[in-house]
Amino acid sequence: MKQVVIVGAGQAGATAAARLRALGFGGAVTLIGQETTLPYQRPPLSKKYLLGEMDLERLHLRPGKFYAEAGIDLRRGIAVQAIDRARCRVVTTMGDLPYDALILTTGARARPLPETLGADPARVHVVRTLADVDRMAPEFGAGRRVLIVGGGYIGLEAAAVAVRLGLQVTLVEMSARILQRVAAPETSDYFRALHRDRGVEILEATGLQSLAGGKAVLTDGQVRSYDFIIAGIGILPNDGLAAAAGLDCDGGVLVNARGQSSDPAIWAAGDCARFSFRGQMLRLESVQNAIDQAEAVAANLMGAAQDYRPKPWFWSDQYETKLQIAGLNTGYDRVVVRHGAQPGTSAHWYYRGEELLAVDAINEPRCYMVAKRLIDAGRSPAPERVADPGVELKALL
Ligand code: NAP
Repeated sequence: MKQVVIVGAGQAGATAAARLRALGFGGAVTLIGQETTLPYQRPPLSKKYLLGEMDLERLHLRPGKFYAEAGIDLRRGIAVQAIDRARCRVVTTMGDLPYDALILTTGARARPLPETLGADPARVHVVRTLADVDRMAPEFGAGRRVLIVGGGYIGLEAAAVAVRLGLQVTLVEMSARILQRVAAPETSDYFRALHRDRGVEILEATGLQSLAGGKAVLTDGQVRSYDFIIAGIGILPNDGLAAAAGLDCDGGVLVNARGQSSDPAIWAAGDCARFSFRGQMLRLESVQNAIDQAEAVAANLMGAAQDYRPKPWFWSDQYETKLQIAGLNTGYDRVVVRHGAQPGTSAHWYYRGEELLAVDAINEPRCYMVAKRLIDAGRSPAPERVADPGVELKALL
């Protein structure tokens, strides 16, 4: 194999390129990105970068010289327009490129607010790219009113930053509770209380009727004035290029356990890839998955023939609270609460039957470490022992 082309220069794309070189791949590696910046990490965008506590250089995954030194042809500011599978070429705004293997790491984009709500686009922001955050940052003036739509991680992390910078925050969540998609009621309760304590108005089970003229009319008839809006209502996978090329797609580029699409010469990893995990098709929207899946694809492309087994973990920083999540709670039927020794610390252990699936650890790094080891090893301590504060954490291992 002589030529690997990687489309999408985010976390997954940059990782795949670097991994190919680390594994000794001697052919050409071309990494194509639509953005003009060096590949950067996204998690700080809604946290330290937005707060102004982290500069651009620290956001970069690697210094610019890394790519040249590693023999990675990084092409920035280029859009791939089509994949010509018959000729094994990608068609770009700067000409065609041949490939022997193609890796799609095209990521995802923020779901837009419905236009029918009538918001002035100039006042609406999303948090997905560096450009999004740079455009939004000047809005964060003390005393201004921000309406946050969506109580997922984006909405809650943005709320925490806005409060720290002195803004008035209203957060509207359509579901019955914040974090409903990703966490148990116990975790939602903790974060609802945390934000309300800091002055955030959280309205759950509340939708939007209209956003015209700087006024949000809510489904229960209430009205809130706002200066600007942050929409954190989920993401949509960028699978259009793959679908147009006739690859199997269904809410993401469908890949097998090795990361291969329905065309064996084309692979996918990260937010855009959908695969089977524990008998269910899913995309794992996390930086850890972007890294691990991209590394697995690089290895498989070089003949490793290893199935990718995700070891999911996530984290979220809000105010001085750190939420760390080990595992994936999909399919849980029971949550066991283990209170920490200090106030404001606890952990929520998700079980399906007797099987431990995941743990949300709130300001409990030791508990997170223990849980991660247990889940990685596929071991499940008895729920009664987990709930008993008399049983030491280490004893659960
Ligand atoms: P998300 O986790 O999908 O949360 C979006 C929330 O908005 C959902 O609760 C959704 O409710 C709600 N919603 C949807 N439409 C709405 C509407 N019209 N009005 C009010 N609420 C509405 O997505 P996100 O917070 O935007 O985050 C985007 C991605 O970035 C996710 O993959 C997330 O995991 C990732 N991210 C992760 C971290 C972290 O790990 N710390 C931090 C930031 C972002 P329904 O579920 O009912 O649709």
